[in-house]
Amino acid sequence: MRYNALKILTEGLTGNRGWRPAWRRPEPKAAYDIVIIGGGGHGLSTAYYLAREHGLKNIAVLEKGRLGLGNVGRNTTIVRANYFLPGNSEFYSMSLKLWEGLSADLNYNVMHSQRGLINLFHSDGQRDAFARRGNAMVNQGDDAVLLDREGVRRHLPYLDFEQGRFPIFGGLYHPRGGTARHDAVAWGYARGADSRGVDLIENCEVTGIDVEGGRVTGVQTTRGGIRAKKVAIVTAGRSGQVAALAGLRLPIESHVLQAFVTEGLKPVIDHVISFGMGHFYISQSDKGGLVFGGDLDFYPSYAQRGNLPMAEHVMEAGMTLMPMIGKAKVLRSWGGIMDMTPDGSPIIDRAPIEGLYLDCGWCYGGFKAVPGSGFALAHLMATGQPHPDAAGFRLDRFRTGRGLMDEEGTGAQHNLH
Ligand SMILES: Cc1cc2nc3c(=O)[nH]c(=O)nc-3n(C[C@H](O)[C@H](O)[C@H](O)COP(=O)(O)OP(=O)(O)OC[C@H]3O[C@@H](n4cnc5c(N)ncnc54)[C@H](O)[C@@H]3O)c2cc1C
Repeated sequence: MRYNALKILTEGLTGNRGWRPAWRRPEPKAAYDIVIIGGGGHGLSTAYYLAREHGLKNIAVLEKGRLGLGNVGRNTTIVRANYFLPGNSEFYSMSLKLWEGLSADLNYNVMHSQRGLINLFHSDGQRDAFARRGNAMVNQGDDAVLLDREGVRRHLPYLDFEQGRFPIFGGLYHPRGGTARHDAVAWGYARGADSRGVDLIENCEVTGIDVEGGRVTGVQTTRGGIRAKKVAIVTAGRSGQVAALAGLRLPIESHVLQAFVTEGLKPVIDHVISFGMGHFYISQSDKGGLVFGGDLDFYPSYAQRGNLPMAEHVMEAGMTLMPMIGKAKVLRSWGGIMDMTPDGSPIIDRAPIEGLYLDCGWCYGGFKAVPGSGFALAHLMATGQPHPDAAGFRLDRFRTGRGLMDEEGTGAQHNLH
């Protein structure tokens, strides 16, 4: 079923009786060519591009709960291509280009809003670093504008520019950065994959990965065994646990990241603002809530909720940057489990078991990567070759030390990225 204005009009005039569920609820088959473990953004987009780009149909996505209730539905929805290092830079650039055509491609409004992202800086040294990053972004073919203090003031007049600890010197403006509606991204990819014949199987937890003679042969699930020629682990914060089912130990730690949203307000913030020195970032959702967050809770955990000291820290940073936020009431907070690598950059690669693939380590930046990651993993699984824009995301860089992409320059400590 195509969604369009005429369809809405005719359904409205005929009692809305013609709408169909956006995807089927099939029973799992005994065997598939490809099984994808994890029905988050990355698993669903991989299935979609396997079908759309490579014409493959005999595919199942196995999700232990309901589609889209993991991190893909828990993030703060920021989409950007402002990475500095080769390897990351071209990948996120490719992903942003996919975002720009996504609603039309999926025939589903993902509410991609390129409202602009401003990263604030607070010293001459930081200005130099952001100027360098901006140059790298422009060289990559993306957009970046270095703003001085008055330039930032024109965009964000309500910030406290003279605050004692971190006076604002300027900002790096990325006009094509912005946000998207996270649920819609999961639902749009699910609908697109389903309509191309992919079986999306919910409430189906993978409890074992079958390996014979060094080759993957299938999975065990709470709904029975399923044979498969190729299996991809795309389980975000649970990647370490799921890979352990195949006897693998990944260079990943799981950490909690929290987010917060206020009551709905009239439009007040029309950009995404990142205040790195305070570990704080904020945007306003289309419903009016101020959506904001900070850093990881700093210790490894599989709990999908965070703790009060980080909540306090985030509130303090918000008050420092824009004291007016103190008048808004926080409506809810939540957490998600982040798959943190030692260099803060992801993995899209073959596992050291024939037929097994890994897509993980997205840390807290994997929402913007949903289209690019699915596109690149589908390319790897279908052709046997890494996608050129994701060729740096190799697993063996953590063993050899070659090709590490430490964007933050903070060293091999998972929780500092
Ligand atoms: C608070 C917060 C804010 C964030 N903000 C941003 C942001 O602004 N921008 C950005 O780019 N990124 C952001 N992120 C990161 C981003 O959300 C993640 O990197 C990304 O969503 C992870 O990929 P995914 O969507 O595939 O994960 P998920 O949606 O978590 O998908 C993984 C799926 O695997 C399933 N699964 C796990 N184990 C099994 C099993 N054994 N069997 C079957 N299924 C299984 C899970 O149930 C889950 O549905 C944020 C994350 C959080 C928590």
